[in-house]
Amino acid sequence: MSPLALLVAVWLSLAAALNISHPHTVVERQMKQFIFVDYNEAFPNMKIDVSCDDTKKKILKTAWKESKLLAKAQTKHVKGYDYDLVHRTWLGEDWNRTLDFGLPNAIDINNRTRSISKAFKRIKLLYAGVMKSNTEILWWCQDPDDRCEPDSRGLATIAETWLDKKKGSTDSKHHTVWCEEFLKRETLGEQVARYDQNKPEQHVIDNFEENTAVTMFHETFHFPYLVSWPRIKDYTDDSDSAYQMAEVLGTTKAYRNAHSYAMDGLAIYIQQKFQLDSPPAPRWVIEGTKPPAWKLIDQRVP
Ligand SMILES: [Zn+2]
Repeated sequence: MSPLALLVAVWLSLAAALNISHPHTVVERQMKQFIFVDYNEAFPNMKIDVSCDDTKKKILKTAWKESKLLAKAQTKHVKGYDYDLVHRTWLGEDWNRTLDFGLPNAIDINNRTRSISKAFKRIKLLYAGVMKSNTEILWWCQDPDDRCEPDSRGLATIAETWLDKKKGSTDSKHHTVWCEEFLKRETLGEQVARYDQNKPEQHVIDNFEENTAVTMFHETFHFPYLVSWPRIKDYTDDSDSAYQMAEVLGTTKAYRNAHSYAMDGLAIYIQQKFQLDSPPAPRWVIEGTKPPAWKLIDQRVP
């Protein structure tokens, strides 16, 4: 064999090896990472990633059941309960404001009010099991795209939700990855039991904020079209900041902030659960101390 023929032969065998090995890697990666199965224990039209084992499934099912209590509290009408007070606290003074057509800013303000009212209606329907057949919810327990990495502030990511919608198609898939930090959290039931006999602490919303139910409830408000439109973001993601944002910047920002809706539902639930004479609020509000510093989160998604 001439040196040139030898070189060609070596090149051909190398190319053959590469052609065989590369597709295998891709196929294995896809098979290993992206298998979903039907899940009939929570929202309608749901699929769950096969890597969610029984322990994780139990955590998710409890979170769904408890977050349903928050949705019910927020959207059910209990006679005599002051919903306006709680909505004003978390969604801003103007959460329900409407203006006559032709007045300055009437279109923007009326659209905003309609958007809040639609979000409440849709979250109620979703938890009641009403969903269009072309819409799906997918829960991930694995994180192939590293969405659970710490955020731009270096804080742990608890969960992340995104929409998969092909251009020109009416089908939409709402994905949520449940990160390790989520799976480690307490349940709402555990936190309610902890303060069952402690009246002063029942007024502090911080005691009930970090659990799987509140996180799941928060994530559902990120579902574009299915729950919210325009898209609901994360301008703040803790009760201290959400409270101050509603007070300082008002409904303009609060109505597009998932945690504001989550705190709104939680405050109603806790007040009704413990039959408090006023809704729970951040500790510094209850104790009358100086509010902590706050600022809007940098948006990763426009
Ligand atoms: Zn969020």
